[in-house]
Amino acid sequence: MQRSVSSRSRLLLSPARRSALLSLVSTALGAISLGAGAAMAQEQVLNLYSARHYSTDEALYNNFTRQTGIRINRIEAGEDQLFQRIKNEGANSPADVFLTVDAGRLWLAEQEGLFASINSQILNQRIPQQYRLANGSWYGFSTRARVIAVDKRKIRPGEITTYEDLANPKWKGQICTRSGSHVYMLSLLSSIIEHSGAARAEEWARGVVANLARAPKGGDTDQVRAVAAGECAIALTNTYYMPRLLKSSRAEDRAVMEHIAVVWPNTAGRGVHMNVSGGGVLKNAPNRQNAIRFLEYLVSDEAQRYFADGNNEWPVVPTVKVNNKELESLGTDWKPDTINMIALGKNQRLAQEIVNRVGWK
Ligand code: FE
Repeated sequence: MQRSVSSRSRLLLSPARRSALLSLVSTALGAISLGAGAAMAQEQVLNLYSARHYSTDEALYNNFTRQTGIRINRIEAGEDQLFQRIKNEGANSPADVFLTVDAGRLWLAEQEGLFASINSQILNQRIPQQYRLANGSWYGFSTRARVIAVDKRKIRPGEITTYEDLANPKWKGQICTRSGSHVYMLSLLSSIIEHSGAARAEEWARGVVANLARAPKGGDTDQVRAVAAGECAIALTNTYYMPRLLKSSRAEDRAVMEHIAVVWPNTAGRGVHMNVSGGGVLKNAPNRQNAIRFLEYLVSDEAQRYFADGNNEWPVVPTVKVNNKELESLGTDWKPDTINMIALGKNQRLAQEIVNRVGWK
């Protein structure tokens, strides 16, 4: 059959028409292969598991897609939920990138073997060493500080200047904190273990617990609210919660901040305890190259501004400046602690043991 058709076409077509037909066929084939190429490009995706849900993230992800053609499928849930989900999905996980907060959590994910190690010159050059793991498993993309919020009406400037001051019996019944077992508290305690040793860290934790105004409950914002309400005079909080209150559409939220002064602890010494929002490429990532491109995009100047500003944090890339007047209103004259984030992970278990021993529930 094939043979008879081709012999017939040979018979019917003059050499000129045959060459015209061949060129038409080859053009058509070219178009098909181009079409296939375009279809493949359209299929480029990135599956992102993110604990972030900020309004500016929309622009962040759209710009990535515009620049690379890689579509982002986002799964958003709580930090611990996503962590469990990735673990449960195991080798079948569609997740390429996991974004979460706190070096303590990132460290746990790394210990569980969830992250792949990547080697990216861009990430290594743009992110300061203390905010990423040397093995390329995870990277910080924005930073936050853990500071002391005090009642302006009760605490005079200079009365409290360090975390260590919080253990002074002078402040008995004056301090509010969230549970000592929360990762933010464990990371702070881990930094104290790193700087002062476990014995002094435990003594400090015991002193703080002895000064608590009430049993730990709620999140950081609840402690700041308790200070404004007069339940306590001193609280520990991550920085970004306060610009959130300042930007709130609710007058009662903004009123909370009228009574709050921010202490940037240990600025005269080792510096303020820092932490990160960050993430990494997952070990079972089906779209590994896209995942690496996404992380590299996150350290671009533009993405850094979106990423940090979305949660009122600071860009991890030191040359990128953020324009956030509510964040700046908390204070600009302070010094960050520069210990490597890995200390917050490796001391975490010890910190939890201390918390248990001193009853920081
Ligand atoms: Fe938080």
